[in-house]
Amino acid sequence: MWMEKCKDVDCFMSGLIKRNAGQPEFHQAVREFAATVIPFIRDNPTYLENQILERMTEPDRVVTFRVTWRDDKGSIRVNRAWRVQFNNSIGPYKGGLRFHPTVTLSVLKFLGFEQTFKNSLTGLPMGGGKGGANFNPKGKSDNEVMSFCQSMMTELFHHIGPDKDVPAGDIGVGAREISYLYGQYKRLQNQFHGVLTGKGLSFGGSLIRTEATGYGCVYFCQEMLNHRGDSLENKNVVISGSGNVATYAAEKATELGAKVLTLSDSSGFIHDPDGIGPEKLEFVKELKEVRRGRISEYTDRFSSATFHADQRPWAVDCDVAIPCATQNEVNLDDAKKLTGNNVMAVCEGANMPTELDAMNHLMQAGALFGPAKAANAGGVAVSGLEQSQNALRLSWSREEVNEKLLGIMKNIHAKCVQYGETGQLPNDNVNYVTGANIAGFIKVADAMVAYGAV
Ligand code: NDP
Repeated sequence: MWMEKCKDVDCFMSGLIKRNAGQPEFHQAVREFAATVIPFIRDNPTYLENQILERMTEPDRVVTFRVTWRDDKGSIRVNRAWRVQFNNSIGPYKGGLRFHPTVTLSVLKFLGFEQTFKNSLTGLPMGGGKGGANFNPKGKSDNEVMSFCQSMMTELFHHIGPDKDVPAGDIGVGAREISYLYGQYKRLQNQFHGVLTGKGLSFGGSLIRTEATGYGCVYFCQEMLNHRGDSLENKNVVISGSGNVATYAAEKATELGAKVLTLSDSSGFIHDPDGIGPEKLEFVKELKEVRRGRISEYTDRFSSATFHADQRPWAVDCDVAIPCATQNEVNLDDAKKLTGNNVMAVCEGANMPTELDAMNHLMQAGALFGPAKAANAGGVAVSGLEQSQNALRLSWSREEVNEKLLGIMKNIHAKCVQYGETGQLPNDNVNYVTGANIAGFIKVADAMVAYGAV
């Protein structure tokens, strides 16, 4: 029993690191979680007796496989893919697929681990999983992407199903990739059912799914500010990324009266002091989704903006920051720049974009901090609603889905307040990290206890 021997997080982590050597992102995600959950477990001996934390940090299963495909020159190419089925205690595995050269087992385990508690927070019956491949869709033709997706699904289809495991998109996997993957699944299985979410509207997709993560994140941010008697109205907002999450976060923030000053990609960021309003955002969506261009092209079109190569946007003076690109994109120096400019709130659109010491600095300096598990749960929540619509063979209206999304984000915020009001942070701020971790933990842990030793 580790807790009899171990008194603190470092001791728990030393065992976990030994068992999972060379997986730094996974270690980071577990450390953040364990630091808040271990004190709670100590106060609730049932979880301790049932070794819940040890069991929760071990995935149910990991499938690793080769993906062989042909490029346009006829050459054979090989990639490695994974599906991490982390925990199905409260529902079928659910979580996206990521295509990016930086994808490793460590990255997918961190994502699958966090997904388990995020899905729990939504209140919907979804377990946690994540998958992907070290395939880089950038610079590939549509035909090459299709060839890769078909080959990947030819193995993946053995492991997924509407009551088993339901993948969705993530970095590098958007509408095009989900369509190719679903087309191949349907062909292999000869069944038309909701095995992937983020599908096109003509074949079982849900309205608002595309927008859901970005919109949901801004709804959560608005709730944090409202709780402090404030709002997004007239706030300056800095956003990183220019993909799915970033563009729809920018859209909703603008709609709620904020001015969005920046967007970025892996080559740098653009700063537009006039604000990136609806017309400019349409240009960005077309640039990134259709032409698959670079964010620097924004400045060719809009002279009000400047491009800053190889830099991140966190030094730009703002009230609210919403990192929406990738993990570990806000380090301690960045956090100090943000607090130096008196940032009021940081809300994570991406998964684990903030390093641990940066997160602690922001909270200790009095900024509201919305962690990814809570703040970006809107995407998977609407994926859950897509599954419900598929099962019911119904399509809900845009207004209906948006209303449900808003309700889910408000509920998540309320759960964070319930478990995160510690009175230990400046400004009497809610500790949303503690709140999200404990609220997400309880539902999964109670189900695991009920199942016995499985
Ligand atoms: P996209 O592929 O649509 O966009 C990703 C954006 O981030 C692009 O602008 C990309 O730039 C940039 N980016 C990716 N990797 C890096 C990097 N290493 N350094 C700098 N910039 C980078 O992905 P999404 O918008 O879907 O996902 C973004 C984040 O949100 C991820 O953390 C994802 O896990 C998380 N998320 C996504 C959900 C969804 O529904 N899509 C749900 C919940 C979380 P470039 O074009 O140069 O690669």
